[in-house]
Amino acid sequence: MAVALTESETKKAVEAFTALGVCEELATAAAALGWKGPSEIQSQSIPQALEGKDVIGLAQTGSGKTGAFALPILQELLDRPQAFFALVLSPTRELAIQISEQFEALGAGIGVKCAVLVGGIDMMAQSISLGKRPHVIVGTPGRVVDHLTNTRGFGLKQLQVLCLDEADRLLNLDFEQEIDQILKVVPRDRRTQLFSATMTSKVAKLQRACLKNPVKVEV
Ligand code: AMP
Repeated sequence: MAVALTESETKKAVEAFTALGVCEELATAAAALGWKGPSEIQSQSIPQALEGKDVIGLAQTGSGKTGAFALPILQELLDRPQAFFALVLSPTRELAIQISEQFEALGAGIGVKCAVLVGGIDMMAQSISLGKRPHVIVGTPGRVVDHLTNTRGFGLKQLQVLCLDEADRLLNLDFEQEIDQILKVVPRDRRTQLFSATMTSKVAKLQRACLKNPVKVEV
């Protein structure tokens, strides 16, 4: 549970997030989660992402990396609301669920709709959630490919932002083939963010395949 900030802490937190370029509405949502100010990875990567740059972030779980990619995505969505705006790929279903919860918490005030596409959960229920035209999709690569192949009417031609979270784990879990399949059906003209705890040769290869002149941030 988030610990509520005092009025002066909230004011400071909102000021610190808006100083990065985050709009007042989302800065207030971050403060409402008990965030007293941006974490280091957020300070370094949010301004770059808001400028439309591809970002590679070397950061561990617990660093606030989810907020680092979620806040810019939500802000772009506010400017240009659109279905199937962003896809976040995560190595595990638990992480995918946590990421979508954070999108929903930060985006509650702006009515963001998320769909979670992970294994072990009924395909049909997920197809129905895709039919509601969510703004953000969070999923594991295998299940995302499954829906791209089998769910009628679902495609990613409109995608604006692709985010690969915990890229080192995605690759260690042998999701390479699925990621390649996804890269083939998303627009070339998009923004991409890649987060990884470690920079392995496989991550470097993936970075070359899917990011354009990325800004590297490291904590
Ligand atoms: P993550 O690294 O994205 O998995 O985030 C780990 C935890 O840190 C989550 O529970 C977030 O709610 C929390 N968190 C993210 N950003 C901040 C922040 N700026 N201040 C305090 N907590 C945060």
